[in-house]
Amino acid sequence: MKRASALVTWWYLAAGGVATVAALVSPWPALREALYLLACAQMAPALWLSYRRGLASARLAILLAVVGVSYGAAQLLTGDEPTYQQPAAIALGLLATGCIIAGLAVVLHMRDDRGHEGLLGDALIVALGAWVVSWATLVQPIVSHTGKTAFGTILYGVYQPTASVVLFLLVVVLLNYSPRPASMWLLAAALTGNLLGDLVYALIDAGHVGAGGERVGIPMYIVGYFCAGAAFLHPSINTLGHAATPANRQMLGRLILTTSSLVFPVIVLAGTAPNDTTDKIVRSLSAVVLAAVVTTRVALAVRANNLAQAELLHGAQTDPLTGLPNRTVLLDRINKLLSDRWGQDVHPTLFFVDLDRFKNINDSLGHAAGDEVLVTVARRLVNAVSDDAMVARLSGDEYVVLDASTRSQGAAMALAERLLAVFREPLALSQGDVFVTASIGVAAISATSSTSPEDLVRHADTAMYRAKDAGRNCLAVYDESMHERVAHRLAVETALYRALDRRELRLYHQPILDLQSGDVVGFEALMRWQQADGTIVSPAEFIPIAEDTGTIVPIGSWALLEALSQLRRWIDDGVCSPSATMSVNVSPRQLSDTNFPAIVSEALTRAGVSPQLLWLEVTESVMIAEPELALATLRRLRSLGVRVALDDFGTGYSSLSLLQKFPLQRIKIDRAFVHGVADNPNDRSLVRTIIAMGRSLGLDMVAEGVESVHQLQVLSDLGCSKAQGFLISHPVPADAMRSTVAALERLGQFPGLRPSSAAPVV
Ligand code: C2E
Ligand code: MG
Ligand code: MG
Repeated sequence: MKRASALVTWWYLAAGGVATVAALVSPWPALREALYLLACAQMAPALWLSYRRGLASARLAILLAVVGVSYGAAQLLTGDEPTYQQPAAIALGLLATGCIIAGLAVVLHMRDDRGHEGLLGDALIVALGAWVVSWATLVQPIVSHTGKTAFGTILYGVYQPTASVVLFLLVVVLLNYSPRPASMWLLAAALTGNLLGDLVYALIDAGHVGAGGERVGIPMYIVGYFCAGAAFLHPSINTLGHAATPANRQMLGRLILTTSSLVFPVIVLAGTAPNDTTDKIVRSLSAVVLAAVVTTRVALAVRANNLAQAELLHGAQTDPLTGLPNRTVLLDRINKLLSDRWGQDVHPTLFFVDLDRFKNINDSLGHAAGDEVLVTVARRLVNAVSDDAMVARLSGDEYVVLDASTRSQGAAMALAERLLAVFREPLALSQGDVFVTASIGVAAISATSSTSPEDLVRHADTAMYRAKDAGRNCLAVYDESMHERVAHRLAVETALYRALDRRELRLYHQPILDLQSGDVVGFEALMRWQQADGTIVSPAEFIPIAEDTGTIVPIGSWALLEALSQLRRWIDDGVCSPSATMSVNVSPRQLSDTNFPAIVSEALTRAGVSPQLLWLEVTESVMIAEPELALATLRRLRSLGVRVALDDFGTGYSSLSLLQKFPLQRIKIDRAFVHGVADNPNDRSLVRTIIAMGRSLGLDMVAEGVESVHQLQVLSDLGCSKAQGFLISHPVPADAMRSTVAALERLGQFPGLRPSSAAPVV
């Protein structure tokens, strides 16, 4: 369809070419006139078609229709007299040019909605320049020739420079925008033909060219009108209004045009002497107006430039979301503060405010809600501090308040409390109210401080992390020891990265005893990190760091394979029964890795261990934080045949619904309850409840951290089926397991153990 109408366009143009050549070579003026009228009329069907095609080109089509009719009528009105003697024809010509200018303005408007500051000024300069030139070369000769200032002559004086405005706008459209569709080029050709026709007639009117010039002038118009018709037939006419990228050359093109509009009049004015007083007055007035317009235009350009620069500077210093100053401005302010002298009673202080669990809001409510939270918090923080304090946003959910006028540490604490209080009220989001808390790190800036602004912010940041570690929604004040702790942690982190490669990690194992049979029915693998200098780092210290940094993923995979291979060796060597199980601890980070079930499956295959012999020990946290993901992963693990134990039960949320919702097969009662089970009635009743609940759900029960025979006895009486703890055995290296198991077997049942069916202890 599109190709067909594109083809029609070219045929149409070819017809225009034939008409033009005919008008050029025709010896009969009447034929030329008839061809001219034909060229005006041919636009009608093209305009009708494009009008129906769409709104964008409709406005242009209407304007061009007026142009066509005006030119046609002007031609009919024109007799043999010079144009300036026919005011009606000139008025129609003016109307047509006005429409063309409006059409070009429509195109400019459609293609760039950012406005055209200065375009009007530039157009005015070009028009005035053209006016000066056309006054001196065309209008003035006619005025002096006719000897009167008739209405027609004045209209003529206005009409001449309008052609330059058309030319100017045309060049702006062509230079400014890319891509340029075929219809744009055709319209440009149409306007050029029209302008050339006008020029020929103007030269005839001014007596520079003889009346025979008409032979060339009319064909120019004919070519122009056919091009206009073709432009509106071409399918690309509708893309004329599509947004376009302004080309870089635009400024240069406009500059060349406006400069020449100033240079030419100057040359003309200097090169030709004024004829009479009217000429002198017109020339001087024109020069004054031109100068005034140029000055205004330059002044406006300078102002726009200053505004743009100010905007740029503002953008570089401001956080676009909240409108708060950014890190650069904050560091700048601290720097200035450090170089200033301040009195002994002033203690400038930094408050590092970090929202707690902001990721949860983003993940659950979406980023738009997250943005709303950030903006609201920014507003509240600004309202909570005095005018001379600065609130900056560093990144994400991190804000820094710099109070340069804090008088004492007490005042700093009071301000920190005020900042915490900002979060007491819920934030009203469009999706409903949400509660957000924050952790705040406080760091004072001392007058003698030799630290850099970056270090000071880092101190406040360190303190903020301390507040997070202390349970969030609180504040912590920076002191030097924090720095040492951070440095130590960094050292551990770095060493941990290499621990696996350097074979510094080991697995110790703790046997799990069946309380009825007294047999060792399984082992729990517990990691140890023996550093190069022989020091052993406890998993309680390095596992959380490995979890934070993500190293737990490779380390955990290693532990899994190592533990399963060890079980295989023990079974093969007869150290334990072939049904003995291996328990491996899995951290939340591992469990949220969608690849985890595949890792487990591969480890089982490589070690040659049946999935029923593996217990994975998980904690509740992951089921609370990412329930959907945890459920999906646990189901996949279950389908492998692997069983899952809930570790440290009783210390976290210990929600009954977790036990029902997630596919779990074992509960491990935390040693905190086992510790008091013998002597503390509360602990005992709690353990009794846990066991009763677990049994009713058909779960296997293991008591952790059994240290005394009494505890073991009570647990057995309460119906707990399995136990592990120092009483039975400490975690031991793999090569010590044979003797450990042998010693346990020799011991048989622990003294005093009763079968679980006996009456429970009260
Ligand atoms: P957990 O899984 O609850 O492991 C039991 C912890 O209790 C072990 O501490 C064990 O040595 C200790 N324990 C055992 N019996 C007794 C007792 O009678 N009394 C006392 N006071 N403690 C006892 P350990 O080895 O220091 O491990 C601490 C925690 O580190 C583990 O707690 C587990 O959460 C984590 N962990 C250890 N190895 C790994 C691992 O390979 N991967 C992961 N993700 N976590 C591990
Ligand atoms: Mg465990
Ligand atoms: Mg445990």
